[in-house]
Amino acid sequence: MNKETLRFTYKCSECGKSYAIAPGVYTCPDCAKKQEANRPLRGVLDVQLFGLAPESRDVRDFLPVPKAFFPAIPVGNTPLWEPERIRKKTGFNNLFIKDDGLNPTGSLKDRASYLVAAFARQHSIKSVIVASTGNAASSMSGVGAAAGLNVTIFIPKTAPEAKMVQSLQYGARVILVDGTYDDAYELSMEFAAKNGGLNRNTAYNPLTIEGKKTVALEIFFQLGRVPELVFVPVGDGVIISGIFKGFRDLLQLTLADRMPTIVAVQAEGSSAICRAMKVGGFNEPQPSDTVADSISVDVPRNGIHTLSNLKKYHGKCITVSDGEILHAQKQLSSNAGLFAEPAAATAFSGFLKLKNELDKAADIVVLSTGNGLKDIVSARKGVTLPASPVKTLGEIR
Ligand SMILES: *Cc1c(COP(=O)(O)O)cnc(C)c1O
Repeated sequence: MNKETLRFTYKCSECGKSYAIAPGVYTCPDCAKKQEANRPLRGVLDVQLFGLAPESRDVRDFLPVPKAFFPAIPVGNTPLWEPERIRKKTGFNNLFIKDDGLNPTGSLKDRASYLVAAFARQHSIKSVIVASTGNAASSMSGVGAAAGLNVTIFIPKTAPEAKMVQSLQYGARVILVDGTYDDAYELSMEFAAKNGGLNRNTAYNPLTIEGKKTVALEIFFQLGRVPELVFVPVGDGVIISGIFKGFRDLLQLTLADRMPTIVAVQAEGSSAICRAMKVGGFNEPQPSDTVADSISVDVPRNGIHTLSNLKKYHGKCITVSDGEILHAQKQLSSNAGLFAEPAAATAFSGFLKLKNELDKAADIVVLSTGNGLKDIVSARKGVTLPASPVKTLGEIR
């Protein structure tokens, strides 16, 4: 029985320098000096852990904030589906879907918000600021409501209405930005610098990456082994880096003996990380355009960190078209009963695209990151709406 708890520091993912985990520490000050405009963040910090593996399988015991500070909202412990009909149809009998759309606010973002909220409570910080395409905002708003925090969110005016209304319901201050997610991000950074409060911007706050690692820990504990492949939808590259981190921690703690192959799946119209994989770095951003709003980013904030993880652990990066995403969304809904938003179905779309090259006996986990009800406008594109309403059976065609 190991009674000793883990200890944690921040470590720069670029230069390796260590920093204490404390309020006001975001990116490595040395590497941040190399920051260029319109490029991914420099000096993103990883959490490094020290000590022996906890006996417990409560994933909070693997996080750098004591359990007592986490708010009373049941984040994580999402089901690992065994989709029988999709298994039969595709011939992959060890296909699993980790359904993070079943988190309290309907997306995987809750894992990051949960840790950020716990950190805020640990340090008696009352206000939190975040820019988002929609899910990080509604997530921080909901988890923040449970934690008693004042949450200010910056979202593009084009964000799906459900995500905005959800945030308002949770009591957040919502600032609609006349521009893209990237514009919302810049404005939120200015706002936070001026008004103080904890910044929850993805990748900039290292706890967003660390919080998301819990999905990897859960996959490992639920499956009882490391899968061969994990398919992940990628926008800013924080979820995927969280997954790399989770498996790396399991390896370091000798609970696991290898890393899985991690496949990043991006929308063709928002594929900065796949492009960087090909040419070895990030060039001038291209305006993103995809039906999958949650992965629509011009400048992937965690691009450099993600690229280095993909290279180090032999990951892959593939793209899928909007048509393929909407097709995958409909396949998941109608064959498994799992209704995922387009960004979330992107990982399944990647699996469908690669499946002919894969070993049918392999353990494959497809990550579904958000609930389909969050974006009805996009989901409508994948179905045929019923004909005009009827009053009698005779009118049914
Ligand atoms: C945020 C999000 C993603 C992408 O995560 P990144 O960390 O930006 O790569 C994928 N799917 C959903 C539903 C999301 O909300």
